[in-house]
Amino acid sequence: MPVVELICVGTELLETHVNTHERYIGRLLRDHGLSLGRSITVPDDKAALTAAVRESLSRCDVLLTSGGLGPTFDDVTRESVAAALNRKLVYKASLFAEIERKLSRHRMAVPERNKQQAFLIQRAAVLANAVGSAPGQLLSRARRGRTPQTIALLPGPYDELSPIFERQVLPRLRRTYAAGLHVRTAVFRLFGIAESVADEKLAPITRAPQSGTSFTILAGSGQVDFHATVVARARGEADARIGAIRRRVLAAVGEHVFGAEEDTLESVLGKALLKRGWTLAVAESCTGGGLGQRLTEVAGSSRYFLGGVIAYDNAIKARLLGVPQRTLRADGAVSAQCARAMAQGVRRATGATLGLAITGIAGPGGGCARKPVGLVYVALAGPERAGHHEIELRLGTGRGAIRQRAVSAALGLALRRVFIRFYSRMTTA
Ligand code: ATP
Repeated sequence: MPVVELICVGTELLETHVNTHERYIGRLLRDHGLSLGRSITVPDDKAALTAAVRESLSRCDVLLTSGGLGPTFDDVTRESVAAALNRKLVYKASLFAEIERKLSRHRMAVPERNKQQAFLIQRAAVLANAVGSAPGQLLSRARRGRTPQTIALLPGPYDELSPIFERQVLPRLRRTYAAGLHVRTAVFRLFGIAESVADEKLAPITRAPQSGTSFTILAGSGQVDFHATVVARARGEADARIGAIRRRVLAAVGEHVFGAEEDTLESVLGKALLKRGWTLAVAESCTGGGLGQRLTEVAGSSRYFLGGVIAYDNAIKARLLGVPQRTLRADGAVSAQCARAMAQGVRRATGATLGLAITGIAGPGGGCARKPVGLVYVALAGPERAGHHEIELRLGTGRGAIRQRAVSAALGLALRRVFIRFYSRMTTA
């Protein structure tokens, strides 16, 4: 398996920005039979970057860098890679003319320092950048008795990097390092199961995988994602192997699988509601609108999501949702009874098919021995055949985490109870 490494350049990535190129590139490589063996982030510092490039080139087949190709003083990737390779930077007048043409199209004066971007590392080819001014660069180094080593310098902004990577770099990497390989990926998104339990149930599949088969398991916000990737020389073999894995995964944890790669609890719930022509309204206390927010992240959610009430104060729970005073007094605002009354109340008030409610203690204050921080009730009210359901949850600590998990639990309850079983729909890449 060829070794592919990525160096992300940018001081901001170490301080403020989230590094998203890593997973984007990692996933595309995986889908094409290659895998990202290592990724590091270095600041905009010539010495640090030169050292990182040298180290990486000593062991990898493919080195990708992102960022640092702009025209400013802190854009040091060209110089650093050239230094690591002991090659010169060569000025290309034609490249500068091209940059000038692009910038003047936007009626921008072309500062002298943009000349920096017209320097190519000796023997590098230009990776044309149709979006921005910074061209990428591609180098291939012959190695005795081995496939050549490839180095690609990519610009930092995603909308510039992605077309260059997908159209100019990835096809070349496929041809050079993964020709004739057939890749199949199956992604299973699970809900209502702890990561450790999923891990244990999947152990017979993941333990000692066949060569060319890899698995990852990852948990977050009350969900677990399980990925299986198969790489084979023959199409039939790849299909058969991924098919066998899919059957075994579904037999082990199928009741928890709610979707595949791009699916979210809210998108799957949305599709299920649409299929039945049902509508949904929400009543939220401790999540303060988070459930409504997740539901409306799905484009087109107005076709089934009517709206909701953020009933943070007990007076609002009583006045707008009709939660009885005696429930609030005797059982408290954080109780199964209150959650049920909220769900019924919002269903009544909006005329929605389903009412979904959340009430709980997100903390850090407000808990007691009987009702600790993390105690959350989720309720669902619906027509006869959907029924009424409440669940009591202990969602740990951490205000943000509790609120996120509560929202996921509510979406999961709606999916599971109303639609009886999670459905399993797998993708094959
Ligand atoms: P420019 O011509 O825009 O200066 P550049 O190639 O020099 O391009 P950078 O300046 O390093 O690129 O980055 C441009 C933008 O892209 C920045 O906002 C940066 O945070 C973002 N970016 C760079 N690398 C990554 C990454 N790995 N993940 C997410 N964003 C990134």
